[in-house]
Amino acid sequence: MGALSFGVSEIFRRSVSGWFKLLNQDEGEYYNIPVPDPDLQVPDAALTPSVPPAPVTVTTPVPTVTPPALSLTPTALHTGKGQVRLHDFNFLMILGKGSFGKVLLAEERGSERLFAVKVLKKDVLFQDEDTESAMVERRVLGLVGRPHFLTSLYCAFQTEDRLYYVMEYVNGGDLMFHIQIVGKFKEPHAAFYAAEIAVGLFFLHNKGIIYRDLKLDNVLLDSEGHIKIADFGMCREGMMEGDTTRTFCGTPDYIAPEIVAYQPYGKAVDWWSYGVLLYEMLAGQPPFDGIDEEELFQSIMEQSVSYPKCLSREAVLLTKNPAKRLGGGEDAERELREHPFFRWIDWDRLERLETQPPFKPRSGGRKGENFDNFFTSAPSALTPSDPDVLAAISQEEFQDFTYINPEFPPSPLTAV
Ligand code: AMP
Repeated sequence: MGALSFGVSEIFRRSVSGWFKLLNQDEGEYYNIPVPDPDLQVPDAALTPSVPPAPVTVTTPVPTVTPPALSLTPTALHTGKGQVRLHDFNFLMILGKGSFGKVLLAEERGSERLFAVKVLKKDVLFQDEDTESAMVERRVLGLVGRPHFLTSLYCAFQTEDRLYYVMEYVNGGDLMFHIQIVGKFKEPHAAFYAAEIAVGLFFLHNKGIIYRDLKLDNVLLDSEGHIKIADFGMCREGMMEGDTTRTFCGTPDYIAPEIVAYQPYGKAVDWWSYGVLLYEMLAGQPPFDGIDEEELFQSIMEQSVSYPKCLSREAVLLTKNPAKRLGGGEDAERELREHPFFRWIDWDRLERLETQPPFKPRSGGRKGENFDNFFTSAPSALTPSDPDVLAAISQEEFQDFTYINPEFPPSPLTAV
């Protein structure tokens, strides 16, 4: 005997008359969400992480780009009382490390508000010729009208030797952390995350930005379980419809075949990484493998992906030819929204955060509960820079870095 489930989320807060689809077991388990009793609001049960995540992925060094002017809100140069300085924060621990620097959990002195502060060393940026990517990240983080699914920036400031991005603390941990606890996600669960990620990508693409670094480590969960994409250091700006670029970059497991082949590429590379990420969420392992980078790239170019039998056909998004890939056409957004894998997603409700997330992370605070102990237990002190190194830094390159986001509510940080 099989089991049939009926999705009540479709009729949640709506009329119950009409026809409704029957769901398979997985879908049913997800969509049969309990209707909360408004008089009895009990918080969701939280999962307790037990397995530490794998080490951070190695990232191939990146870009030299010439960004066009973006429509940013005016850059604030802070003086006097309103200036944000290093002294305003106590750094509590490391939350994670990325391609260019580390992200620290910081507490604002006086208010005890928590922030995630990304810290990059200027001398390292110079040595690796990455100053421009640091500026790109600042500009992308400062874009106005961003959807909820992209991490927000409160302000950015600098010292002689370092750059600081003061971001919202997304305290639910990243998807790498969570998938290592549960192994893999069920299809409706993965479809929810994939849909929220897609909305974030639509925004970037519509602004002419290719993200280029979609991976489990860069997708965080907020306290409710909604997606927040982080790390915009590999973005490429100025890419309007049909534009291409050639810079070889990305995280090896997620790099699209056209990048591996050194061909000009466009925003379809993000939809390739998206397909890899979706596969990882559903299968609990990467779609391509190799004992070294060369073998991995060969596999990306030549191997067809074997999908576990339990996955539905609609979850297969890894098309090597970018022109035929889902999201590779001119009407990418419509194609994605109407794809059968997302048949249960009500995109309007999703964008208004009205779709209940499938999992609520345990509450995370000043102990960095949802972050890898490998990072959180490491020393978080910032070491002083060598004076000779400092003397060689050209500060002019960072003159537009300092910024305060006008979209955020006033706090001691934004006081003038
Ligand atoms: P990144 O250098 O931006 O790739 O960040 C490295 C790691 O730091 C990520 O994989 C996350 O685990 C963590 N992280 C980045 N941004 C935030 C944030 N805003 N809130 C909490 N953790 C973050």
